[in-house]
Amino acid sequence: MTTFPATRLRRLRRTSRLRSLVRETRLDLGDFVMPLFVCPGEGVVHPLEGLPGIGQRSVDALVDEAETLVALGVSAVLLFGIPEEKDEEGSGAYDEDGIVQRALLELRARFPELVLATDVCLCEYTSHGHCGILEGEDILNDVTVAHVAEAALSHAVAGVDFVAPSDMMDGRVAAIRTLLDERGLERVGIMSYAAKYCSAFYGPFRDAADSAPQFGDRRSYQLDVRNRSDALASSRRCAIRAGRLPVQRGDYEPSARGSQSRATRSRCRSGSRCRLHGSGRVRAPPGCAVRGGNRAVRGRRVSGMRDSR
Ligand SMILES: [Zn+2]
Repeated sequence: MTTFPATRLRRLRRTSRLRSLVRETRLDLGDFVMPLFVCPGEGVVHPLEGLPGIGQRSVDALVDEAETLVALGVSAVLLFGIPEEKDEEGSGAYDEDGIVQRALLELRARFPELVLATDVCLCEYTSHGHCGILEGEDILNDVTVAHVAEAALSHAVAGVDFVAPSDMMDGRVAAIRTLLDERGLERVGIMSYAAKYCSAFYGPFRDAADSAPQFGDRRSYQLDVRNRSDALASSRRCAIRAGRLPVQRGDYEPSARGSQSRATRSRCRSGSRCRLHGSGRVRAPPGCAVRGGNRAVRGRRVSGMRDSR
């Protein structure tokens, strides 16, 4: 390789046209994903002070917003849900009639070309505001993963293109991929929040998602900003199964509101045999409420989607 003075790298920086000609990175509308927050109600548009131009919208208002976005050339949106009620298990996250699931059905029907992605986590839906299922004040990793995978599946059935798990539990990407594939939903991608730091930069999203942990913080599952190698290892691990990693300015630390819930327990077919919902003790969920309760719905919706493809 020749060096100065034979090589003068500034030759390619001299004019605007030259710089444009050799530019390696180009960003346009097609590179961006618009975040949308969907909330209960009708005709609701609630602007968010911390995120200018962004608001919480009911499903009907969300459809209007999507129409505007599509007309402007936006090609992808990422949905965050704010449920009417919250409970300990965050059951609204995997309810087939949940707020995000309803929004997906509407958007998919009206905007077949729009790329639909969804945040997949429990924190918007849990009364305690944490991203997982609790035992005492501990977050149970594997139980949470089973619920997060159920949430992803419900979004997939409702027509999502990409699910974006943000919970930071170990093993969630593999569990989601396995469950989606088992249900014939191989076409649905995973856009994992692989290296999500516990950070104050996420403040605006706290308001947007209308929730925050009721106690403690997220340090036991989100990354420490001081640990670069942990971030790289997490990203590599997720990339193997997910294939897509989003780049995000920040994320949110949801808080809890409206904690009194429709109890998942009441929907559990396993009754007292279910260690998660029957006894009130949180344990591994095989055969429990959520899995059993969703099965029939899953089958119906999945076959409906196959018919429409
Ligand atoms: Zn979360």
